[in-house]
Amino acid sequence: MQKVPRAAISGLARASILRAADSVFLRRVVRRYGMRLGAGRFVAGETLDECVVVLRRLNDAGLHANTTLLGEAIPDRDGAAAVVRAYVEVLDRLAAEKLQANVALKLTHLGLTFDEELAYENVERLVAHAGVRASFIRIDMEQSDYVEPTLRIYERLRAAGHANVGTVLQSYLYRTPADLERLLPLEPNLRIVKGAYLEPAAIAHPEKRDVDAAYLTIVRRGLEGGAYIAVATHDERIIGLVPTFAQQEGVGREEFEFQMLYGVRPALQRSLVAQRYKVLVATPYGPDWYPYLMRRLAERPANLLFFLRNLVRG
Ligand SMILES: Cc1cc2nc3c(=O)[nH]c(=O)nc-3n(C[C@H](O)[C@H](O)[C@H](O)COP(=O)(O)OP(=O)(O)OC[C@H]3O[C@@H](n4cnc5c(N)ncnc54)[C@H](O)[C@@H]3O)c2cc1C
Repeated sequence: MQKVPRAAISGLARASILRAADSVFLRRVVRRYGMRLGAGRFVAGETLDECVVVLRRLNDAGLHANTTLLGEAIPDRDGAAAVVRAYVEVLDRLAAEKLQANVALKLTHLGLTFDEELAYENVERLVAHAGVRASFIRIDMEQSDYVEPTLRIYERLRAAGHANVGTVLQSYLYRTPADLERLLPLEPNLRIVKGAYLEPAAIAHPEKRDVDAAYLTIVRRGLEGGAYIAVATHDERIIGLVPTFAQQEGVGREEFEFQMLYGVRPALQRSLVAQRYKVLVATPYGPDWYPYLMRRLAERPANLLFFLRNLVRG
């Protein structure tokens, strides 16, 4: 019998989990019991107060952080306005608590699904407010439909004179090397990720090894091209190669950082801090954690076992 490669099995598991994530029934069950079953491993609580405790603990361990009020695809103006108000409160609180933490947000949480202009106005308001608080906003990258509008909005913010804003590029998309070239003249602050969504082979590398290879090429080109690069991965091979790349390109430690997700590879996070690298932990919170959790489970199907074990233990 022909052996099915491991990568193919985990690719299938990833696709199945991401598809199952759309089920209304599953959403209801996981929303109801998820925090108890272990969602708290990846999510820093449902309230800002709970999140602040986690951020402080990370800072005390020498880790920087960003936080996100979880949520996406807000369907109306009032909902998006409420999210803006919540982020103003987050920025004020981070400053008042003197935390080494900034904000990462999604444009569909600010109205991008139905009105690009509204999303721009909302994020502009938050970037301006972050500027007053000497803080920074990272615009996450979402599904491929939103890449072009997200880059447009990022470019508009920079053209309007906002320097305290960065965005994200995903190495699984074929278009990303060209997007990087487009942004490089802005000396951008870019987080590079592999990509967390289910995308068709027509627009994204289906093979993990190609995604990984593209990742390294993009990071190297970004460093060489004068971008500030946030290397956002838990892939130890890639993490191990980045300092060598930086050295070869004559780039100092202050021009890149590592980023990882809250709850993923904490020992690796601490070991990089011990080697004097800047490490930022993406630490989201909020009641609407379901899609975020499902993407974390899809990235590593073994996480599903962790969840199911908690279910059996009751
Ligand atoms: C700070 C940060 C911000 C991100 N922002 C975005 C974004 O804006 N848009 C977007 O599309 N994606 C984003 N992602 C997700 C990213 O695209 C990947 O899906 C995710 O990082 C997993 O890929 P990896 O780079 O860690 O590499 P992989 O090759 O998938 O994993 C490498 C190793 O890391 C460990 N690992 C990876 N994921 C997990 C997990 N969930 N649980 C436990 N162990 C794990 C495993 O040991 C694995 O073998 C972000 C990731 C990070 C770290």
